[in-house]
Amino acid sequence: MDRTALPEARSTCPYCGVGCGVLLRPDGAGGVIVRGDPEHPANFGRLCSKGSALGETVGLGHRLRAPMVGGVETGWDAALQLVADRFAASIAEHGPDSVAFYVSGQLLTEDYYVANKLMKGFIGSANIDTNSRLCMASSVAGHRRAFGTDTVPGTYEDLDEADLVVLVGSNLAWCHPVLHQRVMATKVARGTKVVVIDPRRTASCDGAEMHLAIAPGGDVALFNRLLGAIHEGGAVDKRFLHNTTGFEDALRAAMNDGGETGLSEAEIAAFCRLWIGTERVVTIYSQGVNQSTSGTDKVNAILNCHLATGRIGRPGMGPFSVTGQPNAMGGREVGGLANMLACHLDLENADHRAAVRGFWQAPAMPDAPGLKAVDMFRAVGDGRIKALWVIHTNPAVSMPEADTVRAAIAGCDFVVVSDVTGATDTARLAHVLLPATAWAEKDGTVTNSDRTISRQRAVLPAPGVARPDWAMLAEVGRRMGWPAAFDYAGPAEIFREYAALSGIAGRFGRDFDISGLSGLDDAEYDALSPTRWPVTATREGGRFFGDGAFFHGDGKARLMPVATRAPAAAPSATYPFRLNTGRVRDQWHTMTRTGLSAKLSAHLAEPFLDIHPTDAARLGLAAADLAEVESAHGRAILRVRVTDAVQRGQLFAPIHWTGETAPSGRIDALVAAATDPVSGQPESKASVVAVRRMQAAWYGFAVSAGPIRAASAYWALATTRGGFRAELAGYAVPQDWEAEARRLFDLPQADVTMLEDAARGTARIAMMQGGRLMAALFVAPRPVAVMRDYLATLPGTAAQGALTGRPPADMPDPGPVLCACFGIGINTIVTGIETRGLMSVEAVGAALDAGTNCGSCRPEIAALLARATQREAAE
Ligand code: SF4
Repeated sequence: MDRTALPEARSTCPYCGVGCGVLLRPDGAGGVIVRGDPEHPANFGRLCSKGSALGETVGLGHRLRAPMVGGVETGWDAALQLVADRFAASIAEHGPDSVAFYVSGQLLTEDYYVANKLMKGFIGSANIDTNSRLCMASSVAGHRRAFGTDTVPGTYEDLDEADLVVLVGSNLAWCHPVLHQRVMATKVARGTKVVVIDPRRTASCDGAEMHLAIAPGGDVALFNRLLGAIHEGGAVDKRFLHNTTGFEDALRAAMNDGGETGLSEAEIAAFCRLWIGTERVVTIYSQGVNQSTSGTDKVNAILNCHLATGRIGRPGMGPFSVTGQPNAMGGREVGGLANMLACHLDLENADHRAAVRGFWQAPAMPDAPGLKAVDMFRAVGDGRIKALWVIHTNPAVSMPEADTVRAAIAGCDFVVVSDVTGATDTARLAHVLLPATAWAEKDGTVTNSDRTISRQRAVLPAPGVARPDWAMLAEVGRRMGWPAAFDYAGPAEIFREYAALSGIAGRFGRDFDISGLSGLDDAEYDALSPTRWPVTATREGGRFFGDGAFFHGDGKARLMPVATRAPAAAPSATYPFRLNTGRVRDQWHTMTRTGLSAKLSAHLAEPFLDIHPTDAARLGLAAADLAEVESAHGRAILRVRVTDAVQRGQLFAPIHWTGETAPSGRIDALVAAATDPVSGQPESKASVVAVRRMQAAWYGFAVSAGPIRAASAYWALATTRGGFRAELAGYAVPQDWEAEARRLFDLPQADVTMLEDAARGTARIAMMQGGRLMAALFVAPRPVAVMRDYLATLPGTAAQGALTGRPPADMPDPGPVLCACFGIGINTIVTGIETRGLMSVEAVGAALDAGTNCGSCRPEIAALLARATQREAAE
């Protein structure tokens, strides 16, 4: 088929919870051309760097193409029968709670629905949990406590109509870039003010009026101070308060809360004045709030302030939880969390259980919550879970105490992993590997952070015999003895059933009701345009709670009395630093997709540790050194970045690197599995660790057209346009650098040119084959100083002079890539600012293109401009 002749298909970006619409056109060569959908209400055509680079991630080189059992390729029939038999045997011998599913916010709603139905309705256990537990479980719990349901009250349009946007624990500029651009556009259009509450100075601060560098765990104290100020300032909306209960208790708790914020009285007063004085205020919160042992209380401290002032459910105001994953919301809706039923119905409610059981004609239904993620992997470790199915996620890397979790999975009796690749830390531990279809090959729906349901559409054929997840799950359900319940012809049929079930939830007075979509035929489902729930016979979309109607039995919201609790672990003489973990701009989760893009990998090519200059000096650490970071649970080696963006005593490290890309950069190995008592969400941002300089005997940098077989104490691998690049370091210098290079690049026959200075401990090696540079290795006793981005372009070319480590004199060094879309380096932008008088982000864009496509790098360009202005002022 000539796919270039096909029209563009409307689909959804598979990365973050913004849920941007994309237009996809197959390029006829197995790839896909991607652009933002101008008609999608989440992004109106905008995409960030990750969404813009989606076309680079659909290659098939890394794909799992056939089921594997014990490392041996097999057919679907044998593989799925084995899965069904082993799960059934475990249930028969040890009961339904001896098995578990660990799923993912990457799943489409239809996949999620079938997984939840199979586990809760037919296996009869609630042991299904999702990696969304690590992302927004505290928001879910906070919503349920306050509203009676897990309801996001507002919509993205509120960001266009707000006069104040408060970002709490959210680096929106990097983690939800399109929403950040939307906020920045509102700032220009109506002068909206932005406040960032974050221990770190992040890219989001560049567009903010106020940055409150709060102490870790200080959020409850700050919002309690705000609640007190709301009361004292006469800003309580007494009329709206009739729709709530608990105000007096919440206020008393707030007034008695002596918790530390880490802020000055003047900062707190200025924030309270601004918040109280601005009616249209949206408080956006994310992982900095959720990933905490007091995450649920933090959420309720924020909700208390919005409820007390009635600033909820009206244009331009309200609390707003933004989700990390593309379908975290869909997972919440279908009941993908171990403590929820389906369609926001309650597992603990006998009437709800009976209704769902009747609807599904289910033989069994658990009456108590299952194991939440951390407890689930503890149960895997101690043998209570004997059969585990992991779907599209990588817990051996991403769970706290990741080394322990990896060992638990490795020791489990029977592990099934379904994924698009077998090259993940978790997939390598599986007894059965099932090849799943990937983003551009899948059909279904996802729900974004503002309750908009969007279609994801298949535009590429599945490779090999890969199958959609719903099909695998349904087949196992049929083979376990429930053929009628799992007899689905396709995602449209699953969606209809799900929508019909939500009508029952609507009859129980729950918020999640999309019964108005239960009559879609296949063609209407195919054509479904973005639709915000609820969708019933009488209502579609809109905001919740502006009318004062909530979902507790009495119809009222609850203000919760909350008090500051410190993070689970306190810094000590042994572990004196607090470690915050998070995301970088151009990578997603454990990089199984974004890591395939050379463009995205150019921004930050290895795991790093941000440390304050004072702490770095005390530890003898300089920029580009390597640091050993250790907690009670694990150890990592990370590249040092000395920056006052982090406070003294605090550190920041990214979450993305894995055993496949940088084995000593698996940061979750250091994170303790301490969880919030209500939500079960782990505290990923307040670990305590020790830091010291790695006593490396050598450092290396390598580029290669082919794979790099790194095995040193430290290595980090990244994709380039022509192959790979790697950072290396070791404790002992190899005897023979030429032999080491031949092993590293697997080039036993290549011609070698080598410059070695044994006295200085340096070596530079170029390996040529057929007149082309195949690989180059640069070694020094200190961090290697070469022009990495230039060298990364050379493998596969007839380049001469690679060993100089820098471009020819007539070719300026662009520096590390800042604008991923156009591959524009920092040096190019700085030179433009200094020599061409570029004074604004717009001027830089007009002259150099940087920042003019997705706009994700605009905060960093603004920071370069600000630094140039400061330099000028100082001169
Ligand atoms: Fe994808 Fe970026 Fe949009 Fe998130 S903001 S959905 S990553 S394009």
